[in-house]
Amino acid sequence: MRQMIAGNWKMNGSQSTAASLSAAIAAGIGGMDCDVLICPPFTAIAAVGETLDGSAVLLGAQDCHQSPSGAHTGDISAGMLRELGVTHVLLGHSERRAAHGEIDEVVRQKAVAAASMGLTPIICVGETQDDRTSGRDTEIVGWQIEGSLPKGFAGLVAYEPIWAIGTGKTPTREEVAAMHGFIRAELVRQFGWAGETIRILYGGSVNPSNAASLLSIDQVGGALVGGASLKAEQFLEIVRAADALSKNGGAL
Ligand code: PEP
Repeated sequence: MRQMIAGNWKMNGSQSTAASLSAAIAAGIGGMDCDVLICPPFTAIAAVGETLDGSAVLLGAQDCHQSPSGAHTGDISAGMLRELGVTHVLLGHSERRAAHGEIDEVVRQKAVAAASMGLTPIICVGETQDDRTSGRDTEIVGWQIEGSLPKGFAGLVAYEPIWAIGTGKTPTREEVAAMHGFIRAELVRQFGWAGETIRILYGGSVNPSNAASLLSIDQVGGALVGGASLKAEQFLEIVRAADALSKNGGAL
């Protein structure tokens, strides 16, 4: 399955720094055998969209509201994103689940709203360190998948262990393989054969040194990258790792 490398810029960058970063990424990805997506903050989407015009880099957003319009101060609808050329939207990132109280049901409604506007949702799931220590990691992730993905889901899932985000810690290859295998089984249980085709990204402290190892694990369909997506060269190195694996048939 073709991999996707997605950059989550979070709340970083001005319009001009975002435009320069996206231009550097666009200039570096020629001929890469993987999908590349960048998700700038809302305020930089238009500027980044202009920079990416004509490039193969896909434009994403970090959230959308579940309603098409209305009295939702400070929120942005899927239709507004679509108007800016956005094709993908991250939903249910652990930072939004924690800081904005986004429960699975809301994430599911957002995924429906995104799909209704032709956007591809990327739904984030992942366990806390306590969940993992107490052996409840698969149970928690299973609930998130069951509660956050709507019927007929046609997007991506990003497995992001919360304890690995921005910490420099990553699960072992065996732990990633076990969780991605579990998620695949859940997707097939929930969606039948269509569950086989849903790409499952790994996210959490992916960097140029560990990218090839993580991306080569069975059922890992790409990476969601936070910190390392803010430096063009680091992000491009991760993209090159996905490209090299693809050209080598998935082997390191
Ligand atoms: C993220 O927050 O989606 C993420 C993966 O962050 P980092 O790569 O910095 O751990």
